[in-house]
Amino acid sequence: MKKPNSQPKNNTAGQTYRGRFAPSPSGELHFGSLLAAMASYADARAHNGQWLLRIDDIDQARVVPDSAEHIIRTLEQLGFEWDESIYYQSRHIRDYRQALNTLNEKKLTYPCFCSRKQIKTRSSNGIYPGTCRPDNQAEQTGTDKECAIRIRVPGHPLNFMDQIQGDYTQQLAQEVGDFIIYRRDKVFTYQLSIVVDEYLSNITHIIRGRDLIDSTPRQIYLQQQLGYPTPIYAHIPLAVTPQQLKLSKLSRARKVRCDLPTLVQAARFLGQDIAPDNHYQSLQDFWQHLFDIWQLKRVPKMEKIEIMY
Ligand SMILES: [Zn+2]
Repeated sequence: MKKPNSQPKNNTAGQTYRGRFAPSPSGELHFGSLLAAMASYADARAHNGQWLLRIDDIDQARVVPDSAEHIIRTLEQLGFEWDESIYYQSRHIRDYRQALNTLNEKKLTYPCFCSRKQIKTRSSNGIYPGTCRPDNQAEQTGTDKECAIRIRVPGHPLNFMDQIQGDYTQQLAQEVGDFIIYRRDKVFTYQLSIVVDEYLSNITHIIRGRDLIDSTPRQIYLQQQLGYPTPIYAHIPLAVTPQQLKLSKLSRARKVRCDLPTLVQAARFLGQDIAPDNHYQSLQDFWQHLFDIWQLKRVPKMEKIEIMY
């Protein structure tokens, strides 16, 4: 019998390393996203792997006009070179729908008609109490009304080994609850869309910010239900201001400077033993050196790192 709480096998062994960077086009590239871009890029190249760029533009209401172009241009100016053509989530709606249909057919989903306010009054911790689960209702009411689609979560814990943060376990039922995969405003959620994206792009290694670690068990659960392989995960510490503000949340989070000192500063935040910027003739020279010395295990195992901003 399958052990319910066994770690997901990373069934990507033997495949070519494929990493990615997936910014949301909701502003300029700031120092925090540069760290995620650099860590995923350097680790891919240090493994002679491929590195892809994806624009997470599924939530069109949050897209800031021209910011995808700005991010792409900034990455180019910093000397990043991605493989293959850029993947845009907005061109994959049909793929997300197909995944949703698969989950529907497995009877894992149900419509939810609750408003945020109703959930707040019914649950003391804000976790969805399963009000609309079909087994809690004599009959489905108002299926013609606008609703979100939720997925049932299992009662057993989900666990994975993070390459930086170590062993991570989450009880989806108690800590997250049945979560939304399709929103009332007819947008596929981050959790479902990126699981499909990583699968379609054959991503084997995901390196991203520590703020996303608590989404990982939900994504592993979706991979398991959809029959997708589970990539290897590593979560880098989050760059925060001395006031503990996340850079992406700062309206004044400015665009990174496209120069060698910025790249050297980023590499040092990632714990890499990199030479000072006057050591390098060019950006290419810097990158080649970083690929040669890169070690993921040197990235600090911390939740946050403060940067002067
Ligand atoms: Zn509900």
